[in-house]
Amino acid sequence: YETFEGEDTDFSGSSSNYLYDSFPRASPSIYEPEAANGGLGDVAGALPKALARRGHRVMVVVPKYGDYAEPQLIGEPRRYQVAGQDMEVNYYHAYVDGVDFVFIDNPIFHNVESEIYGGNRTDILKRMVLLCKAAVEVQWYVPCGGYCYGDGNLVFIANDWHTSLLPVYLKAYYRDNGFMTYARSVLVIHNIAHQGRGPIDDFNYLDLPAGIKAADRLLTVSHGYAWELKTSDGGWGLHNIINESDWKFQGIVNGIDTTDWNPKNDVHLQSDGYTNYSLETVQTGKAQCKEALQKELGLPVHGDVPVIAFIGRLDHQKGVDLIAEAMPWIASQDVQVIMLGTGRQDLEDTLRRLESQYYDRVRGWVGFSVRLAHRMTAGADVLLMPSRFEPCGLNQLYAMMYGTVPVVHAVGGLRDTVEHYNPYEETGLGWTFEKAEANRMIDALGHCLNTYQNYRSSWEGIQRRGMMQDLSWDNAAKLYEEVLLAAKYQW
Ligand code: ADP
Repeated sequence: YETFEGEDTDFSGSSSNYLYDSFPRASPSIYEPEAANGGLGDVAGALPKALARRGHRVMVVVPKYGDYAEPQLIGEPRRYQVAGQDMEVNYYHAYVDGVDFVFIDNPIFHNVESEIYGGNRTDILKRMVLLCKAAVEVQWYVPCGGYCYGDGNLVFIANDWHTSLLPVYLKAYYRDNGFMTYARSVLVIHNIAHQGRGPIDDFNYLDLPAGIKAADRLLTVSHGYAWELKTSDGGWGLHNIINESDWKFQGIVNGIDTTDWNPKNDVHLQSDGYTNYSLETVQTGKAQCKEALQKELGLPVHGDVPVIAFIGRLDHQKGVDLIAEAMPWIASQDVQVIMLGTGRQDLEDTLRRLESQYYDRVRGWVGFSVRLAHRMTAGADVLLMPSRFEPCGLNQLYAMMYGTVPVVHAVGGLRDTVEHYNPYEETGLGWTFEKAEANRMIDALGHCLNTYQNYRSSWEGIQRRGMMQDLSWDNAAKLYEEVLLAAKYQW
């Protein structure tokens, strides 16, 4: 157990540290919970006294399950919200065996003495929420031994799941708002088999935004996604909480595994006619991979026909339906299209249908194949990512490493990582479109294909710029480190 040495303003001359224990159980003899069965009862009965003997000021906080004679009503009632309900709490106090006992009184604790974990889930949960909310503030209202403890030098000990909300409330609603700044909490797990697990709907009773609030820092996987999470469309109901957390919130784009995804030594390019390549050999290397890919999938072998790839989970997010919608136009161009994915049944059917409908130029591979994903990334000229939302996105990063040019919906991490090509300044990494709509995608893809066919040196410049980026985790890890250090040393 830890106690914090520190200024002792309330007990001048005393050297005691303060230690508070919030403990959910009463016992047959209320100050000797060791009479209750089980290790937790033992601990809660014996430990406070033992700590008090060692010179600590110890308070045990429990619900007032029964009508005990000794404890005295202290001060005015306080009010706490539990699941939107205003609940009045009275604090009772008794000083026994060198330990302050505080009893939290509210009707929800009454009539459960014989079975304190009785009642339905919701009842139990509400009791625990109220106990924890009232327990955090005990030292503000109960002048134990004639003094208020104050909160400058305080450790809460919470026992098991019933009181595990206390550290979260302490952190989320007090410490982060400048109260009890120096208070700390220790959670003691007495029996991990009991975790208070329940259906997700129960979460509403806890009055908690959970990790977002309690965390010292909050991160997401791109700047674009960080911005979107703060909007009502992008936050999925959490945008207000995230906005409140803005001061500690930022995006860091994921790195990629450059051992796995590196055209120089990609193991999937070492057989079946494929080849490894580098920035220096990208033109011949990609040409060879493209030929191998066309052969492997039974497409006509044409070096100068652009190959457009899509790789991803087949669901609404990834926008594969937009590709289907645009297919009549795409297939009217002199191109080949290869799609790889698994997911929603209807979208898998769409892939199969497109392949049979446009068999001379389209392949729709339903399945999960890491090898084919690598080979497509190497052999294709263009990677299409019309995702409706995309927190970071990895395939566009892989594509750029392989000299494959991304055409993406400008959203989330795609917006961050694919700078739109500017033909006047010869800058940029690919083509972006502003709305997840088939005609916008067609527009961007049209510009892309035009550059591929008619402006070869511009095309090669885009490839080169993509390949020369450092997209490794080394970069991202440095940014993570800065955030972790800030969480530790800056408040
Ligand atoms: P998300 O995490 O939303 O699925 P990402 O772009 O971040 O999207 O990552 C997707 C990863 O899964 C990439 O490495 C991609 O190559 C891989 N992947 C997705 N579908 C397939 C598939 N059918 N076969 C092989 N790899 C796939």
